[in-house]
Amino acid sequence: MAERYDFRTQRLFVEQSLLANNAVELDRAQSNYLLNVLRMKEGGEVLLFNGRDGEWLGELEPTGRKSCRILPIRQLRPQPEPYDLVYLFAPLKQARLDYMVQKAVEMGAGLLQPVLTQYTQVTKLKMDRISANALEAAEQCGILSIPQVKPLIKLTDLLADWDSSRTIIHCDEIDEGITTVETLDSVKPGPLAILIGPEGGFSPQERELLLSRSFVTPISLGPRILRADTAAIAAMALVQAVIGDWRK
Ligand code: SAH
Repeated sequence: MAERYDFRTQRLFVEQSLLANNAVELDRAQSNYLLNVLRMKEGGEVLLFNGRDGEWLGELEPTGRKSCRILPIRQLRPQPEPYDLVYLFAPLKQARLDYMVQKAVEMGAGLLQPVLTQYTQVTKLKMDRISANALEAAEQCGILSIPQVKPLIKLTDLLADWDSSRTIIHCDEIDEGITTVETLDSVKPGPLAILIGPEGGFSPQERELLLSRSFVTPISLGPRILRADTAAIAAMALVQAVIGDWRK
């Protein structure tokens, strides 16, 4: 059974350690949000997490008109193991990238690895923005472990250093003959990564390189070409349903 989440109480990420009665000062933006947007009062309940100490129920203590702190009362959920699923993606332009990062985290990616491919149009990445989007998705969805975000790496370098025990599920829009569910079912049990290409797809050389690796398993996402952000969600759903954590 999945643990029960509380979805009605505001959940906040904080950097500080969480211990009973060890007050956590909120920053200006968080204080403003609770006091002036949500209009919360003294004693109002919020949930806190920091990626290390699980989820805590806390009570609001205003310390000024625009500042407040939270008193952790008790732990509601212990810190879980981080998700092991690696999400490999060619960066997209800003709005779609924001969306894709949020959705990948909601769907259970534990590590986000941007990959530079030949047809990638976006080569300068705002890492802070990726991390902020990942954190926001975690905050909203009650995911207590913060997904790791890695710096951009070239596809060739990624493959050269790849730990071959981790299977890369390569979403390949060209391979129409693949029976997706059976292919996933036959992947050897073990750690996984999902790879989604850029809007322009993979180059023929990149495809050849990918398909030559024993740890790469190509799958199809059906007879239509999906945009990369749609492909991300479709692939994560498929993998989670057939060989991932939707089965438990
Ligand atoms: N090469 C295409 C579009 C690429 S779509 C073109 O320019 O026409 C972007 C990425 O989404 C692809 O690289 C692939 O990883 C994934 N994708 C999209 N549709 C897919 C499908 N039907 N099957 C598998 N992967 C798909």
